[in-house]
Amino acid sequence: MKLSDRDKAHIWHPLTQHKTALPPIGIVKAKGALLWDEAGNEYIDGIASWYTAMYGHSHPQLVDAVTTQMKELDFVMFSGFTHEPAVQLSEKLMEILPGNQQKIFFNDNGSTAVEAAIKMALQYHHNAGDKRDTLIAFENGFHGDTFGAMSASGLSSYNGPFEDFLLKVIRLPTPQADNLDEVLQKLETTLTQNSCAAFIFEPLAQGAAGMKFHSAEGLDAIIKRCQEAEVLCIADEIMTGFGKTGTNFACDQLQHKPDMMCLSKALTAGMFPLSITSCTQKVFDSFLSEDVHKGFFHAHTFSAHPLGCAAAIAGIALLNSAEILEQRKHIANSHKQFAEKIANHSKIKQVRCKGVILALDLNVEMERYGNLRDELYQFFMERGVALRPLGNTVYVLPPYVITEKQLQKVYDTIEEALATL
Ligand SMILES: *Cc1c(COP(=O)(O)O)cnc(C)c1O
Repeated sequence: MKLSDRDKAHIWHPLTQHKTALPPIGIVKAKGALLWDEAGNEYIDGIASWYTAMYGHSHPQLVDAVTTQMKELDFVMFSGFTHEPAVQLSEKLMEILPGNQQKIFFNDNGSTAVEAAIKMALQYHHNAGDKRDTLIAFENGFHGDTFGAMSASGLSSYNGPFEDFLLKVIRLPTPQADNLDEVLQKLETTLTQNSCAAFIFEPLAQGAAGMKFHSAEGLDAIIKRCQEAEVLCIADEIMTGFGKTGTNFACDQLQHKPDMMCLSKALTAGMFPLSITSCTQKVFDSFLSEDVHKGFFHAHTFSAHPLGCAAAIAGIALLNSAEILEQRKHIANSHKQFAEKIANHSKIKQVRCKGVILALDLNVEMERYGNLRDELYQFFMERGVALRPLGNTVYVLPPYVITEKQLQKVYDTIEEALATL
């Protein structure tokens, strides 16, 4: 029996309405920018499997790092113990993170990194005897699917049934070229009328919202004002981290650095679930006390898993290798050329790029999980290109190792799709 048939008996997939969804495709192998299904069909992984596998699938250096590590130390709990991969990863991260980040807290996925950041922010104020109960977040942000992360997320297609049970969040529009005064005014009102603990944001690019960009200057102004009001700023770089926006981190393009950062996805290059909540010395120090309860009593069993740490160390070595740096530049340039080429197409409302992210909004109304969106998805898959349109936004965020020919095929397939709309 085919994998996709056996799957049907017992498996419940994420983000799936099983009554109407097509059967999933059984994937049996992945290498570089390619995926193969059980029937032998080949697909270009145009979004690097949710922007994780940025150095390509099954990269030999990553495979080596993980297998070597598992033979030495598979796992040990991380309370009361430490190990070389975790210590080394913290050292490697210090070399590339913004200079104000000093402490690394380990979790096991993106949502839990955000969850930990939100709890740290709330407890930071609590430890200072200051009860603050409100979070500030951007409209249409996405921060994950656990309750704290979901509260911060503003995409209603995910949160509907849970809205009555969420944390208190005030939302700001993202700062664009023409609305900064208005956004700062709303921030001012928010700060006056509420007791704000933290501001959480996806810096420069909102992924799940449809790869929507905003202005670095505007974000800087918001962070500055929040920090003046002792509102901790949490940069959720789970999507943007590790080179997506052109710099190692999107925050590298800001003047004002966040108090905390959340990392996952490309952190381990897609090899292993692991995430990080980093923070400044000041945040860390606010948990120091003779009183044990002022510590951060939060743990995930698989925190700092040695295999994930080993993958992350190998991934960071690749991130700034000459070959990957060259590819990062090359993809960014190719995206720009393709964007210029199709900008005036009648079916395109807007096309934009930042770093290795290319996104185009179609001039066609589509529901986020509607039929037309599904047809478009099928159209790409049938031509061997794995892209997941977000409503009427098609985006490409390829592994850095994608070849010129593969990237061209992605562009050609998009053009072909435009012609059918
Ligand atoms: C994917 C993502 C998350 C959630 O991470 P999970 O590992 O899926 O829980 C949070 N924030 C952003 C910006 C993301 O892209």
